[in-house]
Amino acid sequence: MNVAIYSQLLGSQHQPVLEVLFGALQRHKARIWLHPLFAPVFKLWQQSAGLTCSNIDTSASVPNNLDFIIIIGGDGSFLKAISEFEYLHVPFVGINTGRLGFLADISPDDIDTAIDALATGKFLLEQRPLLELQPHIDEIKHPFALNEITVHKCDSSSMIVIHTYIDDKYLATYWADGLIIATPTGSTAYSMSAGGPILSPAAQNIIITPIASHNLTVRPLVIPDNGTIRISIESRELNYMLSLDSTSVVLRTPTEISIRKSAHSISVIKLDGHGFFPTLRNKLMWGADKRN
Ligand code: NAP
Repeated sequence: MNVAIYSQLLGSQHQPVLEVLFGALQRHKARIWLHPLFAPVFKLWQQSAGLTCSNIDTSASVPNNLDFIIIIGGDGSFLKAISEFEYLHVPFVGINTGRLGFLADISPDDIDTAIDALATGKFLLEQRPLLELQPHIDEIKHPFALNEITVHKCDSSSMIVIHTYIDDKYLATYWADGLIIATPTGSTAYSMSAGGPILSPAAQNIIITPIASHNLTVRPLVIPDNGTIRISIESRELNYMLSLDSTSVVLRTPTEISIRKSAHSISVIKLDGHGFFPTLRNKLMWGADKRN
């Protein structure tokens, strides 16, 4: 088994996670490539723990025979890893040391089970669609998003004006703080905070969620995911913020961008019992009875 480990900086509180993870990988004789961000952290931890690990590759270039990319962190780290490695078409698996862990959904207690499942092939592969920005622009190196593409006001309290078209048919003009175009995966992220609906990951839809729209009747809208959403943005400050997941840039207005489902998707490893409905119950407390 050939795995890559991606993590942003980890603290000493994460040492027990590393011990269990690397112990399990060694038992399965995995060859382990460490992302350059993580390799120095790993070396420090190895020295302080006095452990020797074999089959570790710290070269700068990504090996071309990876079976899995293991992310240690929260959903934020998961999104960063996707933006770096989506082009490899290798399944992602997330060990949650963050807060919510919708994407990185394997708890540290389940690491042994998870590595056994990877080694024996006892897992499901879930396909998650990405959104793609059109046209590709120099300011955004990775023009794809797993959660959402958002346009947002910046630099002042003034609203932005967003004219929105679906497949060249006029939908509406939003006078708002911003507009979120979200995938089913992103339905539990920013879109949910702005009042958008939660979609099952298998839904073939895109959500258009306005942020604080100054219009009483405007609501989030769910559309089929085979359309192109074209938005034209105007603002008094002559700029706006464009975000793809956790990457943001400030650009000039007036301008026009298009968003559509990408031809690429990513594969996410799901273990037995780690479906979407248990995640809703466990992470969003659905059905929790506080009456007793
Ligand atoms: P962040 O502001 O540090 O964290 C965003 C929060 O959203 C974290 O608690 C993260 O979980 C959670 N999250 C990310 N993707 C999720 C998903 N698909 N389902 C459920 N929760 C999810 O920013 P970040 O870590 O760089 O993540 C970028 C994401 O933040 C964006 O894609 C956007 O969706 C979200 N965001 C939300 C708001 C808001 O809700 N008001 C505002 C801006 C951006 P972990 O704790 O597990 O990392």
